[in-house]
Amino acid sequence: MHSNGKVYLVGSGPGDPELLTIKAKRLIEEADVIVYDQLPGPAILESLPESAKRIDVGKYAGDHTLSQEEINRLLIDHALQGKMVVRLKGGDPYLFGRGGEEAVELRKAGIRFDVVPGITSAIAVPASAGIPVTHRDHASMVTIITGHEQKKGESMIDWEWLAKSKGTIVVLMGVSTLSQYISKMVQSGSDPDTPVAIIERGTRPDQVVTTGSLSTIVDIAEKRGVVAPAIVVIGDVVRLHEELS
Ligand code: SAH
Repeated sequence: MHSNGKVYLVGSGPGDPELLTIKAKRLIEEADVIVYDQLPGPAILESLPESAKRIDVGKYAGDHTLSQEEINRLLIDHALQGKMVVRLKGGDPYLFGRGGEEAVELRKAGIRFDVVPGITSAIAVPASAGIPVTHRDHASMVTIITGHEQKKGESMIDWEWLAKSKGTIVVLMGVSTLSQYISKMVQSGSDPDTPVAIIERGTRPDQVVTTGSLSTIVDIAEKRGVVAPAIVVIGDVVRLHEELS
């Protein structure tokens, strides 16, 4: 048996609905089924078409959060029923957020799929706070890392190398572990005066920017009660925030 179903792994951008791609918008309108979590943000999620079956994998059947295996199963089952499925993911589907894992499972199950790139929060959210992630006077390189590595196995992040590099560091999923990696950076030799910005809910109407340095940001963030989703930017480019925001 082979179905005509197809799954699109669609990036929804950082939250402002005008930052959806034209292709993302069209596929959302044409979908039979839209599978989503909360990361795309309220403005985009509230405008999903009622004609589609909409499945929130964070609040499935009441309050149950689906595991990655269950999400994969859901995508595969609907595609096997011949449905056009949009798996809507915040930012870009292949930058963290497990788009790559979903693609591998779809491939294994023989399901047709396509990936639709989105504007990643890693670059767009700093920009919306007046922070270009590169600038010829400040940084010639940018490293995007996760604040939440899988617990099993050794870290794939070389902090000493990062501390030595003069580039910009952008941390995703980096709120709850902030104090841990900031102290790792300082221990590895980063200048404690390096500026840091945390941008919560970037590109959304309730965006909030908090700034400090490697030595002060943990206390400031705690006092302000910074919450996810937020992007942490570390490096000299943060100095441009006041001028450009
Ligand atoms: N694929 C996504 C990232 C998924 S990981 C992308 O390309 O943007 C989830 C993390 O993305 C969050 O923990 C947060 O660090 C970041 N993020 C996504 N949207 C955001 C937004 N509007 N404002 C701040 N951070 C955001």
